Amino acid sequence: MKLPRIRLNGSLRWQLQLWHGLLLALVLAGFAWTSWRLQRASLFARVDQELEHHAQLVIRELHPHGPNQSPPPRQPPPPDGADLGPPPELPPDQESAGLPAPPPPQPPQPPEQMEEAQLENLNPLLAKERDDQDLRKNFLYEVVWGPLERILLRSDSAPKSPLQPTAGSARSGFRIHDNLREYFEFLPSGECILVGKEMGDDFASLNRAAWILFAVGGAVLLIGLFIGWMITSGLLRPLITINHTAAKIAEGDLSQRIPMPSGENEISGLVRVLNQTFSRLETSFERQSQFTADASHELRTPISVIITHAQNALARERSSEEYRESLAACHRAAKRMQQLTESLLALVRVDQGGRGGERITCRLDQIAGDTLELLKPLADELHITLESDLKPVTCTGNPAQLAQVCNNLLENAIRYNASGGRVTLRTSREPGFSTISVEDTGRGIDPDDLPHLFERFFRVDKSRSHGSGAGLGLAITEGIVKAHGGKIEIISQLGEGSLFIVKLPG
Ligand code: ADP
Repeated sequence: MKLPRIRLNGSLRWQLQLWHGLLLALVLAGFAWTSWRLQRASLFARVDQELEHHAQLVIRELHPHGPNQSPPPRQPPPPDGADLGPPPELPPDQESAGLPAPPPPQPPQPPEQMEEAQLENLNPLLAKERDDQDLRKNFLYEVVWGPLERILLRSDSAPKSPLQPTAGSARSGFRIHDNLREYFEFLPSGECILVGKEMGDDFASLNRAAWILFAVGGAVLLIGLFIGWMITSGLLRPLITINHTAAKIAEGDLSQRIPMPSGENEISGLVRVLNQTFSRLETSFERQSQFTADASHELRTPISVIITHAQNALARERSSEEYRESLAACHRAAKRMQQLTESLLALVRVDQGGRGGERITCRLDQIAGDTLELLKPLADELHITLESDLKPVTCTGNPAQLAQVCNNLLENAIRYNASGGRVTLRTSREPGFSTISVEDTGRGIDPDDLPHLFERFFRVDKSRSHGSGAGLGLAITEGIVKAHGGKIEIISQLGEGSLFIVKLPG
């Protein structure tokens, strides 16, 4: 089976890159837009302040006595050299603003009758203002309409055909058209004042700023995408390696392992877990094939015995005694196969987590005592003395499986004992555990063999093994005990005997 491999330009990398790019572009666009809007707002705030200030100057010039006052009636021009009297006093705020003194006294004229030039000449404040503006190369212009929409005043820099504001709900306001920023105000006396400024240069510089922001933002986006691509590549590299390794394992090479990435992070944790899983998988596969080979080997012997005896019996006419012997040999071989298949079945159940039987509260001492009784004939046959010290203890478990544990341990203690030996069975209570212990005075177990004792089909000495032993008894025992949440401990002295202690929670 072939697993699909993540290609270098696989979708995950592109998806990450796409989302990263989108996010970055959004952030940059938001930043650029905000900074452009702030720049624009600050420009307008400055210009609007200038326009309002300029408008106030124009109003003050038109109505030195206040905007609510109608312009004074036109006086006849004084004769040359006539004494015009003292100059009119400045209003207090004008004085405090340090504005220049008002123009030399001129005979006031109604605005309708003033010529534009005349108005401008009468307007030193405007002239001063205009000089300042000239210095800044930003010219403010003003237009004044009379009550009959007649233009009373229009500065040179004003548009040739200025657009008169329409009297709406607002008495004053700002507007923008054709690169012009304008402030208008309708006076109570009926005039409409428009003050404006040509903002072409300002808009051009705003546009320039927008382009610079766009260019810088684009460059930052490109750099960000490149860095993102590098980071994503670095992060995904172990995943690609994992994918390649998993693909090789899926193809059958179970020895493959993923190289550990440097540093400690989520990926290295994943690699560690995967490598452990692959190791267990490999061990499990090896055990599985070893198990199959061992099981076949164990079955082959009794099958061969049956075939040989059957062939011999059928080869020629035999006496009834010979037939009986052949049948007895076939029966023994069949019994051995039966035991073997039962053991294999028990192992399968153990592998499935010890399922196959309900769990109840069991009296361990009773189960152990019953098993001891069953094995008495075998012990007698082999001249082994059985002793017991059974304290009443309970545990939750499957009685049949627990009986099998007792049986396997006792049978081994009897079979791997010397004639005249002794086997002692005990049940007792330890803090948190109910224990069954089986002690024998047999040959003991070599310390080198102890680690392999619970392996399937392991026998210390195959030639000396008792007839039915296939090396599965202790593997089944350990499986059952583990399925019950317990453990087995062995203390053994070669030539002196062994002690098997089963501890079960209870
Ligand atoms: P078997 O069915 O061959 O007895 P087991 O799994 O029960 O298989 O035992 C595995 C091996 O452990 C046995 O072959 C034997 O060599 C050794 N063994 C088990 N119990 C004892 C014991 N009480 N004393 C000495 N050796 C033992």
